[in-house]
Amino acid sequence: MNERPTLEDIRRAPKVLLHDHLDGGVRPATIIELARDTGYADLPATDPDELRTWFEEASNSGSLERYLETFSHTVGVMQTAEALTRVAYECAEDLAADGIVYAEVRYAPEQHLGRGLTLEQVVEAVLDGFARARRDFGIRVGTLVTAMRHQARSMEIAELAVRYRDLGVVGFDIAGAEAGYPPTRHLDAFEYLQRENAHFTIHAGEGFGLPSIWQAIQWCGADRLGHGVRIIDDIEVEGSDARLGRLADYVRDKRIPLEMCPTSNIQTGAAKSIAEHPIGLLRRLSFRVTVNTDNRLMGGTSLSQEFAKLTEAFGYGWDDLQWFTVNAMKSAFAPFNERLELINGVIKPGFAQLKWSGARPLA
Ligand SMILES: [Zn+2]
Repeated sequence: MNERPTLEDIRRAPKVLLHDHLDGGVRPATIIELARDTGYADLPATDPDELRTWFEEASNSGSLERYLETFSHTVGVMQTAEALTRVAYECAEDLAADGIVYAEVRYAPEQHLGRGLTLEQVVEAVLDGFARARRDFGIRVGTLVTAMRHQARSMEIAELAVRYRDLGVVGFDIAGAEAGYPPTRHLDAFEYLQRENAHFTIHAGEGFGLPSIWQAIQWCGADRLGHGVRIIDDIEVEGSDARLGRLADYVRDKRIPLEMCPTSNIQTGAAKSIAEHPIGLLRRLSFRVTVNTDNRLMGGTSLSQEFAKLTEAFGYGWDDLQWFTVNAMKSAFAPFNERLELINGVIKPGFAQLKWSGARPLA
């Protein structure tokens, strides 16, 4: 049984999210309140609906400058411990309402020091918000601390990831403009993390192609790839046949997880449309593909909506959605026992129930 799931059905499915930015998912009403409380005067609108529309329009404009400007406002109001705790708590509440049972949410601590917080205070404020949300909504959220690739603080941030590894920080990431800032620029941080047996992902193969993916894996030792869409540059399709180059082969053979974010890739120009998104081919070729939101506010999206769009474009059914979800849980940075418990105790039974109820319409 593989009925086409509706958006409402998909919301009820127990889902897993690995790539979501804390500063890319703040509620518009919260941005406005925090701006008022903290004296931030640069918002382009003070009505929540108008502000939401502004964010989506700026993000869909095709202009990288306008897209990046959106983050200056969310980061601008996230400069106190109270603001960070609130944003983390509400993020987890929104993810839980969307049916997500496990999430990894990332942010760059170095971007929240504008009003005198230390890196440690930033990390602790965010962890506090997620811990409270776990008590209230049951959702497990691990955090990834991100270093900005154009800055020079990656070693410090990597040390922060290791220091807080038993307190809710599950990994490390680098993000920011890819062109001109190769991941090897931060090799010392990655080598340090490897020596510490710590996990990390790298934004690669989004704005820049194969060399970036190759460096992230073969020089830096990334466990996962943030996006990785450009791996298709190493795949030649002839009719129903596909010929993989050595790098694409390696990524598939080693089951390296690809954190794909369809809507975001269209906004940044990494893909033309959902129907033309490489995720269709990569799923067919059995790469370790996962589905993610990247920036829910800028994309006007949720994980359920990403799945609904893919279902529409590629005709995916419950089996496909479960496959993406199990892929994500297998690829999470949570400990093995926790992953297994969620796959066998929550994800598989949850999907089984949805498939079963889809097969027998209620009278
Ligand atoms: Zn991202």
